[in-house]
Amino acid sequence: MELNADGKVKKIGMLGGGQLGMMAAEAAKNLGYEVIPYDPNPNSPAFKICQDCVCAEWDDEDALRIFAKSVDVVTYEFENIPMETIDILSKFSIIWPDKMLLQIAQHRVLEKTYLNTNGIKTTDFVKVQNKEQVNDTLEQWGVDQCIIKTCRMGYDGKGQAVYKKGEAFPKLKGELIAEKFVDFDCEISVIVARCQNGEIKSYPPFLNEHKNHILHKTTAPAPIDKDIEKKAIESAERLAESVGLVGVLTLEMFVTKDGDVLANEIAPRPHNSGHLTIEAFETSQFEQQIRAVLGLPLGETTLKSSATMINLIGDDVKDTAQYKDQPKTYLHIYGKPEVKEGRKMGHVTILS
Ligand code: ADP
Ligand code: MG
Repeated sequence: MELNADGKVKKIGMLGGGQLGMMAAEAAKNLGYEVIPYDPNPNSPAFKICQDCVCAEWDDEDALRIFAKSVDVVTYEFENIPMETIDILSKFSIIWPDKMLLQIAQHRVLEKTYLNTNGIKTTDFVKVQNKEQVNDTLEQWGVDQCIIKTCRMGYDGKGQAVYKKGEAFPKLKGELIAEKFVDFDCEISVIVARCQNGEIKSYPPFLNEHKNHILHKTTAPAPIDKDIEKKAIESAERLAESVGLVGVLTLEMFVTKDGDVLANEIAPRPHNSGHLTIEAFETSQFEQQIRAVLGLPLGETTLKSSATMINLIGDDVKDTAQYKDQPKTYLHIYGKPEVKEGRKMGHVTILS
């Protein structure tokens, strides 16, 4: 167990107490460290397993100051933390990954522009304000439909809609992006961890299948060609190096029908598609996050067993009998008090 100069166990402040924070707290415990989650929601899953927790709003300056001073480093498990919160915290503590990555990941136009600038291809996109601009863009692209998304705060398909020329313009608020439809062969993700000293380790790409825009199933390793795998890992690692990542990031990508890899989204944190790393890999994505932000050597990302992860969304969580007491089957229930349609309630990992 690593102790501070004052003889106390090292603590990691976690912004967000969702399931990602909860699993990171479990990983930290196994390494001999403590996570203190911060979340305005009193029913946060991570609160159930952590000794000390902070339940306060994102703009509560006193709570933020006390929180930041009580931990050795701050990290986060979701990307929509207000920048003002980060600014307050950074007066009192180190925050990894740093502000730049968070700013990029919070805004789809910034995100895709940054990726392109760093030689990572994405689909065509334009920042748009109204129907006329989108119609002009469609004309330019020579297509009759596209996806419109809010630049900020979208997740699980929320804040996005298909727009077809001639139809009503989607009712989406705030800054918008129009994206060219990708007629993809499959979707993959690469999770990469990097330390301040430059040590970097990626997992092989995972194959992701969505239902109603929400991740349904992940398979590892993804059954893709070696050259696509290489391109995907190179993109994620290039991104990690260019932002000077300290922590974990995930790059979601499309594999096109002609074998191209197009980046779609950055998550500056562990990812739903990486849940299977807990059982299927030498080191889990959560352990990597803790290791990276504490400056410990990263773990090996060797595959122990190929695996499939299935998300338990909404009512799925009421029907887990099929997974119970099965060999090589690991059921994770997050303990959220209320089952809601579209809410991630748990997941199951099946090793093959
Ligand atoms: P979020 O995950 O934040 O909701 P994404 O941009 O990842 O937003 O979109 C969710 C899903 O919608 C993607 O995983 C993909 O299945 C589909 N999608 C998003 N953008 C495109 C696109 N330009 N072309 C084709 N499918 C897309
Ligand atoms: Mg996504």
